[in-house]
Amino acid sequence: MAPVICYPTDSLPPAPLELYARARKGAQKTGEWVAQPRDAAAFRVPAGSFFRITCVEGPQVGDLNLWSADMSERFYSGKTRALHGTHLGVGNRMWSSFPSLRPMATMVADTLAWYGADEFGGRVHDVIGTRCDPHTHHLLSGGQYHHCCHSNLTRAVVAETGLPVDQAATLVHDVLNVFMCTGFTRDTGQYFMKASPVRPGDYVEFFAEIDLVGALSACPGGDCGSEHSSDTAPCHPLLIERFTPDAAALSGWSSPARNGYDGTHGL
Ligand SMILES: [Zn+2]
Repeated sequence: MAPVICYPTDSLPPAPLELYARARKGAQKTGEWVAQPRDAAAFRVPAGSFFRITCVEGPQVGDLNLWSADMSERFYSGKTRALHGTHLGVGNRMWSSFPSLRPMATMVADTLAWYGADEFGGRVHDVIGTRCDPHTHHLLSGGQYHHCCHSNLTRAVVAETGLPVDQAATLVHDVLNVFMCTGFTRDTGQYFMKASPVRPGDYVEFFAEIDLVGALSACPGGDCGSEHSSDTAPCHPLLIERFTPDAAALSGWSSPARNGYDGTHGL
């Protein structure tokens, strides 16, 4: 029996990539942040602006979280995976959590698109991993390591919002693994990683569909070719830049509405 796609997306309007490209041409740079190695940076992008994540200095993967400006909506990795597949490419959306379930950002450029799928089934930019975290590390190896992506993102949320650390940690969620090369082994079905093909100058860029807070961690795994959750791997910074077009250049585009389900759940 042939498999059946769980969630055919034919009924979704395709991302208006030509409109975005036209708007991007006249956009001005309006912000810049750096996620330092084994650390994270938070940034804000208003709806209608672009943000680019660039590899600088050396191969490095990043763990990306997104929230609405009031932090009430967050990126929903699992549903994004169900809709678009295990790895994201140009034209795919990053969808938000229930009940809003709307596009938060759309990928508009990717210099690693050439990679496709390798002989092991590895691809880049996955929504299957979660983020390296000190709890799983403690479970499997013991110890108290504080520079996993989960902790890096937590510190970035504390710095951005002023929330206490325990509340900030609950806002961190499953990520988009920017530049990371991953897949599932054919024999055991286990999550694997390989050294990322990313090199200095490579970038991935997104269009912000709603007002966003983002946080990006430069993973302690570096290129994730060996191990994470330690200070062993060589690590490099990641650059985040924001570009803002003229409002007139976005004529014909509007920020997506929240999901239209009535929320009564049969009651
Ligand atoms: Zn990590």
